[in-house]
Amino acid sequence: MVPFMTRFVDVRNMVRWAGEQGPEKILAGLIGYLEEDFGKWEVFDKTPRVASHTPFGVIELMPTSDHETYGFKYVNGHPSNPARGYQTVTAFGVLASVSNGYPTFLAEMTVLTAFRTAATSAMVAKVLARPDSTTMGMIGAGSQAEFQALAFRTALGINSLRMWDTDPAAVEKFVRNMTPHGFDIHVATSGLDAVTGADVITTCTADKTHATVLTSDMVGAGVHINGIGGDCPGKTELDTAILYRGDVFVEYTPQTRIEGEIQDVPADFPVTEIWEVMAGRKPGRTSPEQITVYDSVGFAIEDFSALRYVRDQIGDNPDYSDDIDLVANPDDPKDLFGMIGVLSPVG
Ligand code: NAD
Repeated sequence: MVPFMTRFVDVRNMVRWAGEQGPEKILAGLIGYLEEDFGKWEVFDKTPRVASHTPFGVIELMPTSDHETYGFKYVNGHPSNPARGYQTVTAFGVLASVSNGYPTFLAEMTVLTAFRTAATSAMVAKVLARPDSTTMGMIGAGSQAEFQALAFRTALGINSLRMWDTDPAAVEKFVRNMTPHGFDIHVATSGLDAVTGADVITTCTADKTHATVLTSDMVGAGVHINGIGGDCPGKTELDTAILYRGDVFVEYTPQTRIEGEIQDVPADFPVTEIWEVMAGRKPGRTSPEQITVYDSVGFAIEDFSALRYVRDQIGDNPDYSDDIDLVANPDDPKDLFGMIGVLSPVG
């Protein structure tokens, strides 16, 4: 039997690789891969993710394919987890060869999802935020927050942050992690304080309820809103009045209508898919006064790009990856039973 080996990047290797590369280099690389894949959007198989909802949270599968490579991510969303000592979001993902269906690459994606979500936000902000943006107001200092801050500096040069979270310990953690990176950080006393004077507002909270962390009166002209935390039926962050004041941009409309901020407005509420703006088919920002809203939920193509990036960067490098024997591969493809090695029937 010749084993078929799948390349595997585990948590230990992912975090070591990310630490050695530096997060900003990875974010810049990911933005490039995302732009490439959003540039061939129409090639991909697309479907809203398959979600299993329970009172605890949601578990989702996110598949896509460009007809050469197939990919999927397993991800959960459990807002009550941190109170029980678990993370809100964890994930892993797979790439497979379309030609024979064998899985070629398997990776942890809890860390990688934070990178890919932030890189996607930054890619979108590159085409929607005002180019003169210097300050980001942030509501939510959880797991995603540092990645978002670094991505916006990488793509837009934003160095001034105004942070609010209802949990002071989360803010303290954010300041501790980001201060060595040279950000100018204002610890806000409220959501309103965080967004005052901000050019970009990132909402990144976790609450399995229709929360309103940003009300319309908090949002001034010309702001770009990067709405991350409303990503599940029954889980939103923005006052719907904001959606009517601004223009709303989404990843994949059928999924966002189920999961995004626009779940709270009629099904014919107009939105623009971000790939259409990037391709020059639809307008993005049309004036400095316009309010643009990126209603992010996270889409399978972004995970595909992220897996592809890590696979290409790490390749077969044994310092950061291992071969694992994931696929049974008998010499005779019809003799699977023969692999079990039963010596003789019990007489
Ligand atoms: P997390 O649980 O680590 O952090 C969430 C933070 O929000 C916590 O620190 C909490 O105290 C704070 N918070 C909750 N309600 C608040 C409020 N009303 N005002 C201010 N702060 C508040 O979660 P995370 O991993 O950082 O994820 C944040 C959100 O982003 C989650 O809802 C998650 O599902 C979502 N998410 C979206 C994507 C995407 O692609 N759109 C990807 C990953 C995560």
